[in-house]
Amino acid sequence: MSTTILVLGAGTGGIITARELCKKVCNDGEINPVRIIVFEKEKKNVFAPSLLWLMVGKRKPEQVYRNTSKVAGNGVEVVLGEIEKVNPQEKIVTVNGKEYKGDYMVISLGVEQVTEHDLDKYGYDFYTLNGATGINEQLKNFKGGRIAVLISSLPFKCPAAPYEAAMLIESFIRKKGLSNKTEISLYTPEPAPMPVAGKDLGNAVTTMLREKGINYFPQHQLTVAAENTLTFISTGGSNVAEFDLLAYTPKHQCPKVIKETALIGKSGWIEVDRNTMETNFQDVYAIGDITFISLKMGKPLPKAGVFTHYQAEVVAHNIAKKIEGKIPDKTFDGKGQCFLEMGSGKAGYAGGNFYGSPLPLVKMKTPGYKWHWAKVLFEKYWFFKYF
Ligand SMILES: Cc1cc2nc3c(=O)[nH]c(=O)nc-3n(C[C@H](O)[C@H](O)[C@H](O)COP(=O)(O)OP(=O)(O)OC[C@H]3O[C@@H](n4cnc5c(N)ncnc54)[C@H](O)[C@@H]3O)c2cc1C
Repeated sequence: MSTTILVLGAGTGGIITARELCKKVCNDGEINPVRIIVFEKEKKNVFAPSLLWLMVGKRKPEQVYRNTSKVAGNGVEVVLGEIEKVNPQEKIVTVNGKEYKGDYMVISLGVEQVTEHDLDKYGYDFYTLNGATGINEQLKNFKGGRIAVLISSLPFKCPAAPYEAAMLIESFIRKKGLSNKTEISLYTPEPAPMPVAGKDLGNAVTTMLREKGINYFPQHQLTVAAENTLTFISTGGSNVAEFDLLAYTPKHQCPKVIKETALIGKSGWIEVDRNTMETNFQDVYAIGDITFISLKMGKPLPKAGVFTHYQAEVVAHNIAKKIEGKIPDKTFDGKGQCFLEMGSGKAGYAGGNFYGSPLPLVKMKTPGYKWHWAKVLFEKYWFFKYF
């Protein structure tokens, strides 16, 4: 009898899991001993890091996505539609009213992004295709004034992204010759940039912001948004900031379809074995942004594509081993790296072991042009390899 693997979500984690499985279980053209079914609701598959370049006009919308249907092939089937129900006990998924039963299940449904405080009335988010396109339109017509880059709530995926957004916007404004007419401010509830990665990294990013003239307001939790104003609670009490252009991160929450299952832990996310990514249900795995992994320092592992990528490789390898009747022997070790776009064609690069104890061991390399080009190369590699 053939084996069926259900992969929930065709984002970063789902695509890598499906392709790695395909290689490892020897699916080849018409000969497919293992059925790999990927479920996805979106027809367009966006490469999220490119949204920041789209925002400042370095990419066009059609350059940052591919059609989800292209993920199919070599034994990978794609079912387009919203997952309506997930039954981890029986490993059954319901899509378009139809039930699919598997022997293994890999959940990579990411986060559900929602807008709070009516922020979409007053600005655009840079976490979606429409939002990033909207910011680009606004920036093109901008004549000077106050720009607010806002982290509206915690947690949010890609801890570097809002900092990159602020620096890319600053670079755009400088090139337009509007620096002396523009004030850019970044507001966040965090105590410092990327706090899980440690003080040195936080200080390095704060220095970068200062050198670029970007005002930084940590420990600022948004309470009210209105036309041209944001109200915050901060350590000093309540305060109001004015803006002419607003770019924000949406609120991130666990997708509803998973919230309704017994997969959810106290954190409100799927709590997995941090090395194997297996859930409380045997042969049901969860990877990427939908998971919650508590670090020794007491904070969760950040939500980032790089971790999702490595987790997907581990899970695909271990499922393939199980199918062959062998012992699964790969583990996710908490290592990860990221690029930090700084504008003007430069980027920083930081990486390390987030499972380091008592604190993650993360180091930053000297920023320069080569890290920006490495990020561009990774974008090309992604589209070439997976589509
Ligand atoms: C602007 C931006 C920049 C970023 N830059 C970086 C970076 O430089 N480096 C880095 O490491 N990370 C980066 N990230 C984060 C990275 O994109 C995510 O961490 C990564 O995509 C997580 O992978 P995932 O598979 O968990 O979720 P996703 O890639 O979000 O995939 C989840 C998929 O599940 C689908 N789905 C959800 N619910 C349902 C349902 N009910 N039915 C069917 N389908 C469903 C979604 O449509 C989606 O396609 C960035 C993110 C953003 C927004």
